[in-house]
Amino acid sequence: MVPQTRDSDILILGAGGAGLFAALHAHQAAPELGITVAVKGLLGKCGCTRMVQGGYNVALAAEDSVERHFMDTIEGGKWLPDQELAWKLVTLAIERVHELENELGCFFDRNPDGTVHQKAFAGQSFDRTVHKGDLTGIEIMNRLAEQVWARRIQRLEEHRAVELIKTSGGDAIAGVLFIDMRTGDYVFVRARAVLLATGGGPTMYRYHTPSGDKTCDGLAMALRAGLALRDMEMVQFHPTGLLAGAHTRMTGTVLEEGLRGAGGFLLGGNKERFMPSHDPKAERATRDVVSRAMFTEMRKGNTTPHGGLYISMAHLGPERVRREFKGMVERCADCGFDLAGALVEVVPTAHYMMGGVEFAPDCTTALPGLFVAGEDSGGVHGANRLGGNGVANSTVFGAVAGDRMAAWVRNQRFRQPDGPAIDAAIARCERPFGTRAGDLEVLRERLFDTMWERVGILRNASGLAQGLAELDALDAELERTGVGDTTRVFNLSWHDWLNLQSLVAVSRAITQAAAARQESRGAHYREDFPHTGSLETSAYTSIRADGTVAMKPVAFTRVRPGQSLLKHAA
Ligand SMILES: Cc1cc2nc3c(=O)[nH]c(=O)nc-3n(C[C@H](O)[C@H](O)[C@H](O)COP(=O)(O)OP(=O)(O)OC[C@H]3O[C@@H](n4cnc5c(N)ncnc54)[C@H](O)[C@@H]3O)c2cc1C
Repeated sequence: MVPQTRDSDILILGAGGAGLFAALHAHQAAPELGITVAVKGLLGKCGCTRMVQGGYNVALAAEDSVERHFMDTIEGGKWLPDQELAWKLVTLAIERVHELENELGCFFDRNPDGTVHQKAFAGQSFDRTVHKGDLTGIEIMNRLAEQVWARRIQRLEEHRAVELIKTSGGDAIAGVLFIDMRTGDYVFVRARAVLLATGGGPTMYRYHTPSGDKTCDGLAMALRAGLALRDMEMVQFHPTGLLAGAHTRMTGTVLEEGLRGAGGFLLGGNKERFMPSHDPKAERATRDVVSRAMFTEMRKGNTTPHGGLYISMAHLGPERVRREFKGMVERCADCGFDLAGALVEVVPTAHYMMGGVEFAPDCTTALPGLFVAGEDSGGVHGANRLGGNGVANSTVFGAVAGDRMAAWVRNQRFRQPDGPAIDAAIARCERPFGTRAGDLEVLRERLFDTMWERVGILRNASGLAQGLAELDALDAELERTGVGDTTRVFNLSWHDWLNLQSLVAVSRAITQAAAARQESRGAHYREDFPHTGSLETSAYTSIRADGTVAMKPVAFTRVRPGQSLLKHAA
């Protein structure tokens, strides 16, 4: 099958905060360049940046500082973040928020004196989260999309990237193979520079928050292209995902952290509080601590009818709850629950992957011509991401990548792709049409179970080994399972098959990295290694497609454990 071909100087995969900022910055730096944004969904309507509720961390206030934001990020990340990446995050976040407001047209909430309002978020020593009510992502994405639409930037919507194609010598990237989901045709786009910004997304867990278009395709493609992923064991769970039954897409979606912050209680199936017996901060402990306590109660069988726990707000006064948490009360009402006056079932839900492609502060990767930004990248957050640092990460590094790619392509020619690699990628994608049809739903359920039970909030060596064996079996079975419908036009079963293939590959990487880290740190908790190892010798996991994991030392380029950049501190 010969794919259609086209050329673009710069090709951007993904249209979230990272992809769209990259497009705008590359265009601003070099308007004469051909720039294409290719996206699995519709530009402006998909991905997780649109789902951002809480807001954007940035040190704007006179009493705050980039050093303080940096120290919160490093300490929150349990000394695993790459310090140069974290420094870039906190310093450039200021520029990006000014750009969002003054050039792109975002309106963030303001104080009566006209300054930007910044709210409190967990794990931070200063209230620095800029927001637009609790719909911050919609404001950011609408303005970014309008600006992209207004410029000479090409769009390939409903185009799913399926393989990063190198030159025949393998020394650089030559372009990307896509499926045009609207026709089922293959399309090869040759590009001088490619940005991977498909946004990760831990949707292999039974309960998860990210949008359904995110199935770790970018990370799976990076592995197949020979790149190393770091920190893959670090998957963040949000404690309060809504539990509304198995057959609604609302299950897993977030009930915001502010509910616990305001004084909400978590109750077991026996309707009694359990958090005070797990941590002195009770419901106000950090996300990882609360999620672990909840999972422990669930394992004990202290559960609600749907197998979760309850959140209770009524003791704060239903009127206050309705006033302060209007969006959350409405979300629960949509599912038949009364958040203000009664109990609502909740469950910890997989939210964010701290891990991703190893990259340098200028967004380059080990493969010349391939750049990475946003949730596909690893190393900015280490063992934990602070709420509010996710969208800052995407926009900061998206912009860096756009600037860098525009400069880089000046000295680059289009490269010839490796023809057999394109053929092999097409053969892989075609596989489910040549095999007897099976039930993909059953395989997805098995993946959910494996990741939730064995590679989830509490881990141990035997569970991880069993998890890996189950993933191997799943992988083999997926290879033998076909899709019945052979139409190519919007064949969602075909795309489900491809989604599962990416999710299984990345689940294996999470499991192998989790087995290699024999300690507990941040989001990664090992029941058989409950303590955190020496911070001085902190090392990050670096995994490749063959499953080999290297432990690489963290370079303390700006501050060492026990020290601080804050003058009044140690
Ligand atoms: C419910 C929720 C609330 C959140 N709230 C906050 C918050 O308050 N503050 C915060 O800082 N962070 C928050 N986050 C995290 C934040 O959303 C992410 O960190 C960030 O938006 C990721 O940006 P991105 O550009 O990397 O990816 P995304 O915005 O997810 O974009 C990824 C893009 O890649 C596309 N794509 C995927 N696969 C392919 C493929 N194969 N081919 C082509 N395109 C593809 C997708 O369609 C999408 O357009 C939240 C996340 C969720 C899920």
